Amino acid sequence: MNAPLHTSALFRPSHRIASIGVSEILKISGLAAEMKRQGRDIIVLGAGEPDFDTPDPIKDAAERAIRAGVTKYTALDGGQELKAAIRAKFKRDNELEFAQDEITVSAGAKQVLFNAMMATINPGDEVIIPTPFWVTYADIVAIVGGTPVLVPCSEANGFRLQGNVLERAITPRTRWLMLNSPSNPSGAAYSETDYRPILDVLIKHPHVWLMVDDIYEHIIYDDFRFVTPAAIEPALRSRILTVNGVSKAYAMTGWRIGYGAGPSPLIRAMAVVQSQSTSCPSSVSQAAAIEALNGPQDFIRDRCSSFQQRRDLVVGALNAIDGIRCRAPEGAFYTFASCAGLIGKVTPDGQTLRSDTDFAEYLLRAAGVAVIPGSAFGLAPYFRISYATSAVELEDACQRIARATAGLS
Ligand code: PMP
Repeated sequence: MNAPLHTSALFRPSHRIASIGVSEILKISGLAAEMKRQGRDIIVLGAGEPDFDTPDPIKDAAERAIRAGVTKYTALDGGQELKAAIRAKFKRDNELEFAQDEITVSAGAKQVLFNAMMATINPGDEVIIPTPFWVTYADIVAIVGGTPVLVPCSEANGFRLQGNVLERAITPRTRWLMLNSPSNPSGAAYSETDYRPILDVLIKHPHVWLMVDDIYEHIIYDDFRFVTPAAIEPALRSRILTVNGVSKAYAMTGWRIGYGAGPSPLIRAMAVVQSQSTSCPSSVSQAAAIEALNGPQDFIRDRCSSFQQRRDLVVGALNAIDGIRCRAPEGAFYTFASCAGLIGKVTPDGQTLRSDTDFAEYLLRAAGVAVIPGSAFGLAPYFRISYATSAVELEDACQRIARATAGLS
């Protein structure tokens, strides 16, 4: 999924990093950026962040914090006030009660995940990751010396992990199962009924812990009801790490605040990791996150309905194209469409499309639209579109994709 890092006589990356390399996502984004620089009209549908701005009250809280001198190191894994706001959020949104020492705050959900893996994985330990998946999961596991065990989840099952498939993937070395709902890249979300068989399997295997990434919790559509495993199955509470953050719901990707909730021994071990990497999350961003979590929440629903209109636009337009098939995602701001019907077709300049990567490259060159091939997320032949961009741009992009696809023979 990743291209190897550059090595030279002067620079040799560590074994740990050499095995990770540079994400395929960056490859196509780099190509798109280069074409833009050359003056080409390129629509980039790769962004993993909302196109909305951080709401003003949140910015104001950060400004006030700066003026009040909240500019020093804070407690290792987040100040008490933010932890209290996070506990209140879990109670309000998920009916979950956590103690203060069961909460950790880091520089983004990504660092929460990193801390958790660093704190628990020994070489050879296995982590089950259903595909398609956010590439970071496997890369973090590999960086800390673990073994990612990729388990394909078919489109027929809505890209969701099935209990019997999980059962087969568990070995004595399994340490974690990682789940993400709604998912990047598929947009698929798990209902309580979808989670149940998975949780039943985990109950039978007490050595396996569950990491759930709920970062897209608030970006859900139609009447889908978001649920999180710790709230469904109290018997598993002692081995669930629930990961979340302010990046997506509050359009705060650059502020870098994510959080986790789980058993205190794990949370303490994660703080040790953090103490020797970033010391603490940014004090100013913590003040902003307190406002985000404690302040008015209604704007999230408005933004969601705007995302839903764009989802409907993209799903409708893609399904109207011969050779492309796209299921309507329950959440997040991505569609994960199949391009199986286009594999083997020939471009106007005589190139045969052999993979989703070929298709993505063709779209970029022929239509000026940058999408990410499914293989970058461990499932082919698909492509991911991020619809966190304006409806006008999305309409234009879909028309271009339709034209480029019609040009194949
Ligand atoms: N989890 C998933 C599934 C994501 O897509 C992303 C962002 N791309 C993150 C976590 C990272 O969130 P944060 O900005 O809090 O590190």
